[in-house]
This record gives sequence, structure tokens and C-alpha cells, in this order.
Amino acid sequence: MEKNKINLLFVDDEERFLESMGKLLAAREFNVIAVNRGEKAIETARNNPVDIALVDLKMPGINGEETLKALKKEHPWMEIVILTGHGSIDSAVECTQKGAHSYLLKPCDLEQLLEALMQAYKKRVMNKNKIEEKRMNEMLKISQSNSPREILRRLNEIDTASS
Ligand SMILES: [Mg+2]
Repeated sequence: MEKNKINLLFVDDEERFLESMGKLLAAREFNVIAVNRGEKAIETARNNPVDIALVDLKMPGINGEETLKALKKEHPWMEIVILTGHGSIDSAVECTQKGAHSYLLKPCDLEQLLEALMQAYKKRVMNKNKIEEKRMNEMLKISQSNSPREILRRLNEIDTASS
């Protein structure tokens, strides 16, 4: 996997969305590992370093909620963003009570996704490197930019320098 990129596990059973959005994210700050089933996501996370995960809620087999539980149990530091349709917002909210960082409604655009992933990665870097939020915000001000991509790059630098 490419160094100095953020390792993102992306699981969604809608393969067209998985492929198109996965490509857009891979062209940005992410090493994307894209899989179409919860079972594969759990297996993949055992064999690859994953920073954050993007998990679809409704999938055949192990659904997003079960995938979330298994991932958080085995990798407590991993931050997870849930993807959901309008019909299952309640379940998505429940997921945030069970450890998901946040949820995003589908269809979502790239900018919304980058913003959500940035926030999740920020938490991941803070927890992993034991940086308090106040200190982290001071460190991020250095970049003088509010674009999620700038912040993602800065966070990745902080993480790489700390580990
Ligand atoms: Mg689905």
C-alpha cells in the first residue's frame, strides 16, 4: 500500500457505488480497500492496517451494524462512518451509540464524504497519538485552510511523524 496515505476500508454491497466512489477517494488522500460484504471487511481488517472504515448499513449477510460491532471489538481505535439510506436513519443513529463515529445519508457526494472521513480520521489520530482536541486544533491551524483535503493531509503528517 502507498505510504503517507490514509488506509480506508470501504464496504458496500452496491458495487457500482463502491467502485466509482472508491476510485474518487483513491485519487485523493486514501489507500482504499474496497469490499462488498461485511464478512470480507472483518477479514480484511485482520490482515491490513486500517485507519478508518466506511460501512454501508444494509448489506446481505453480516449487515453494517454487525460489521461495526465486530470491527470495533477487534480494532477499538478504528473510527467508522456508517452509510445509510433514508429508510434506516434510526438504525444509523443506533450505530453511533454503539461506537460508530458518525453516519452519512446516501446518496452523498464526494465533499460530504471527505468531510465525514476527515472528522473520523481526526479522532483516530487524536486517540492513537494521545493528542487532546485543544492541542490538535492548534496543530491544525498551521495549515491555514478549511478544506477537508488540506486537513486530511495535515492529519496524516501528524500521524506519520508521531508513529
Ligand atoms: Mg447496501
